[in-house]
Amino acid sequence: MGSTTGRLTGKSALITGAGSGIGAATAELFAREGAKVVVADVDKSKATLTADRIRDDGGVAEPYAADVSDETQVAGLVEFAVESFGGLDVLQNYASDRSVIAEDVFVADADPSVWLRQLGVDLMGCVLTAKYAVPHMTRAGGGSIANASSLAAWLSLESRPAYATAKAGVIGLSKSLATQYGKQGIRCNVIVPGHIVSPATEKMYSAAQTEVMLDHVLAPRLGRPDDVALAALFLASPESAFINGQVIVVDGGMSAYAPVVPSLRRLAANGR
Ligand code: NAP
Repeated sequence: MGSTTGRLTGKSALITGAGSGIGAATAELFAREGAKVVVADVDKSKATLTADRIRDDGGVAEPYAADVSDETQVAGLVEFAVESFGGLDVLQNYASDRSVIAEDVFVADADPSVWLRQLGVDLMGCVLTAKYAVPHMTRAGGGSIANASSLAAWLSLESRPAYATAKAGVIGLSKSLATQYGKQGIRCNVIVPGHIVSPATEKMYSAAQTEVMLDHVLAPRLGRPDDVALAALFLASPESAFINGQVIVVDGGMSAYAPVVPSLRRLAANGR
């Protein structure tokens, strides 16, 4: 196992979408920091691969297959986490349905089944996991929840309106959870990744489009899953004990500047 500071020693964590990308990096980092991790994904083989990497590294992990849009499966997932590790201290949601991207088009052409699928996984997945995790956390005196949103929640990419809507909903949901259960020791925050190189984004964007993303990052490189995992670790750890209902953006500065800046820079380069 790599060097750690044991920031999650004694904690049990449930991470959805942990078979891939940011969720997998977060599960692995949490385990290195001493957490016992339930690695949940709709695809059991991917969850198992992440859990195997954690175990090979000396950590503690259990893979579990669940579709987070299905209430019965989520109830089973949370029960499994509580029984496996004797409680649940940390819940983080990264599950996202990428299968409907091509059909998530202009609203006038919307297919309601596509919208319901995107909202079902990306938003209702956060609702359902919280529904079953919160009672365990309140009984234990508290817990930390973090849900993945996206810059798309407030900066439209023109395509993917259902995804943008789901991710905007995640922010409202998380602030509601913070408000409703903060007095019972539960914190719920939002993580907003910018463009992070993951198996999903590598499929979604061409090399040329990825270059455009790099142009718009206020950093010399693109984001990596570990960049997000480190923010996730902070939100899961006691170091963020007084941070609740907040939105943490991990985007290398992509959302920091006014949209007119690139045009103004082009004009300045041409002496205009
Ligand atoms: P990813 O690689 O696609 O990982 C998401 C995981 O969720 C996949 O393993 C996926 O499995 C799984 N999943 C899909 N449907 C599910 C369901 N119904 N139940 C449970 N699991 C399900 O995504 P990522 O790029 O790491 O992103 C992680 C999170 O950050 C997502 O919520 C995403 O919206 C958000 N985010 C990412 C970026 C970025 O640039 N990467 C930017 C903004 C926001 P399958 O692959 O088998 O479908």
